[in-house]
Amino acid sequence: MILDGKLVREEILNKIKEKIKTEALDIKLAIILVGDDEASKIYIKNKEKYCNLVGIKTTKYTFASNTKEDEIIELIQKLNNDASVTGIILQSPVPKQIDFDKVTNLIDPNKDVDGFTKENIYNLYLGRKTILPCTVKGIIKLLEYYNIPIEGQDIVIIGRGNIVGHPLSLALQNKNATVTVLHTHTKDLEKFTKEADILISAAGCAHLVKSYMVKKNTVVIDVGVSRKGDKIVGDVDFENVKDIAAAITPNPGGVGPMTVAMIIDNLVELKERSKNG
Ligand code: NAD
Repeated sequence: MILDGKLVREEILNKIKEKIKTEALDIKLAIILVGDDEASKIYIKNKEKYCNLVGIKTTKYTFASNTKEDEIIELIQKLNNDASVTGIILQSPVPKQIDFDKVTNLIDPNKDVDGFTKENIYNLYLGRKTILPCTVKGIIKLLEYYNIPIEGQDIVIIGRGNIVGHPLSLALQNKNATVTVLHTHTKDLEKFTKEADILISAAGCAHLVKSYMVKKNTVVIDVGVSRKGDKIVGDVDFENVKDIAAAITPNPGGVGPMTVAMIIDNLVELKERSKNG
């Protein structure tokens, strides 16, 4: 079975569009871009496109690559205090003179679309309700959509990065999975990957996961993004793994669309928080 992120994205966004319309929700996203990173510009266009599609307003704040950190901090404080702003995204990467973690952490946790502030991460750590990082939430929603159980499953994650692997390991433990995390210092990846009920690769290493590393009927989720020329390549050798796996995400077309959908989903969640709190 193919886990079709584009299809699930469309369904989620259609539901959200309807909700925004019927409840007349006034949602606004502020996106901050510092510098000229070409990939960031594409990601931002995509975020704007899907916000627009469901009826969420966006404002983009662009800054030259030599902008001082204080200027960005000042804008974040202004946006935090602006009641018309529902969510704020500081697009990564930022130029060297700006400390991404420090500045991101100044975003009001109740406007933290990406779920990267200390408060939201601490809540994830404690297993409390939180704003989940979008890729993490997207993977969980994709599994849930296809009725793939998480509780009690042996889940192996390749990668312990701050954006995907590490928070995902916490979120899946909170859902009662047994989670094993592999990384560049793991002696023998295959020893663990072959035991997985669900194998999730978030390493960013092209075609790292080969067919001999996967047990029959495993669910395989490919998060990694590597570029080979103008082609995007995942962590999984899709052509050879797809016949062994019970279910597998294409890449592109699997986790990526879910990540974008969860930006929108998180914005609606933040809006509801602001109405209730
Ligand atoms: P990161 O660089 O912070 O972390 C990568 C992790 O993978 C590290 O812990 C490293 O130890 C591990 N790793 C790398 N090569 C390995 C190898 N050969 N064997 C074992 N472990 C290895 O990256 P990140 O920010 O967590 O993102 C992970 C990947 O997911 C990247 O390719 C990123 O582009 C992609 N990503 C995709 C989406 C999406 O929506 N599809 C969203 C976010 C990130």
